Amino acid sequence: MIPLSLTKTEIHEAISHCQEVAISFGKSTKKVKRALIPKTLRTELSKNIGSKCPTCDRIITISNPPSVKQYQPIASSFTVEHLFPLAIGGDNTYTHLMVAMCHHCNARRNIVMQQYIGSRRRTPKALEDVKKFVEWSITSVLLPDYEQDTRIQEIWEATESLKLEKSKRDKKKTKPPTLAELLERISVLEGRLEQLENTKWRRLTRFITGLLKRKPRITQYSADEMLLECIRSGGTTPVKLGQKITNYQKNHDWEETGKSAFNEHFGFAKQQTYTTTISDILGDRVKVTGIRNNARYSIIVSGSEAPSVVSLQKTPPITKPNPSSAPKVNPSKEHSEKPKIKITPEEFSKGLLSQKKRVQPVFFSTLYERLINENPIFNLKQYGIKPNDYLTEKCSDLLTIIEKPDGNTPPTIHYWITDPQ
Ligand SMILES: [Zn+2]
Repeated sequence: MIPLSLTKTEIHEAISHCQEVAISFGKSTKKVKRALIPKTLRTELSKNIGSKCPTCDRIITISNPPSVKQYQPIASSFTVEHLFPLAIGGDNTYTHLMVAMCHHCNARRNIVMQQYIGSRRRTPKALEDVKKFVEWSITSVLLPDYEQDTRIQEIWEATESLKLEKSKRDKKKTKPPTLAELLERISVLEGRLEQLENTKWRRLTRFITGLLKRKPRITQYSADEMLLECIRSGGTTPVKLGQKITNYQKNHDWEETGKSAFNEHFGFAKQQTYTTTISDILGDRVKVTGIRNNARYSIIVSGSEAPSVVSLQKTPPITKPNPSSAPKVNPSKEHSEKPKIKITPEEFSKGLLSQKKRVQPVFFSTLYERLINENPIFNLKQYGIKPNDYLTEKCSDLLTIIEKPDGNTPPTIHYWITDPQ
């Protein structure tokens, strides 16, 4: 079914050429070229609909069931596969290296690539892996009898039973997979992996588990929340903030950590400093003093500047809770000066939820800051009350509060809020 008529020599020449291009691409900072596949080529390749996929036994079917308007490919759906993938320097001019392939194999090959070579690195070992991958990518389709690199081939085989989401590209209309579905997918894969040698598969299992987990993570944290959380927990200088962010990334299963991983993840310029990012996106909430390595970040609370190191350590509960919603008053001083609390836990909880702009849990302090910016009556400081205490002691029946230790020793507990269940 292969639409190409390259000789063995031409295939090997193509491999060498693509390896060279991929290596110089890997060393460069060039962007991946994404472009629609030219219609004529697509039409030409679609003649393979009804033939066998080059890498499995499926008969390739049309790209989308006719009854479905959205793109919802099934395993056998027609796709165009770049044997010289765009992600490593290929483009649509390599028409002799573009083939018809079933959706399932195409997706598996993407996973193999991500697993085997990961994100762009420039070490000699990484570049050697890119070369091996190019060789595998081309020969696995065009030279079925070629002796393949064992490790890549094993990754390929391990992904065989990986069930793909029906429609990755139709996120809005498709419900996210349930936990049961995810677990089932993982167990199917694990069963397959167990038959194989364990150590080789640890990385792959982690990677695939990471893939399944990644979607919630991406939607769960925004750059501003992450920066605020890290500044609040002690990241008050560029160096300290860098450490806090790296810890945060490690605790949230980022594959790469550090500033460039942060920038890449949120779409900032690769070398952009945290100070610049903070000034850009948190200018109204974080005050920056000093420059470069001497910069200091402090969080602005309701117009006044609050100390940026705010202990989020869980404080011991009040020993004698007052039956009314009376505030916890700082007993040491100013007892008589603190005004009586003017809000109820219900109003406070409702206020927090009104600041929540998405379904996922949100960091409590983010909601609290938004709330007191909107209405200072909710600023608990004026009543001598610690926000975390008020939240955990008065509002636990009104909100769902999630406790997240930050991974430090001793751990600092962060509170996240979501709607009552
Ligand atoms: Zn296939």
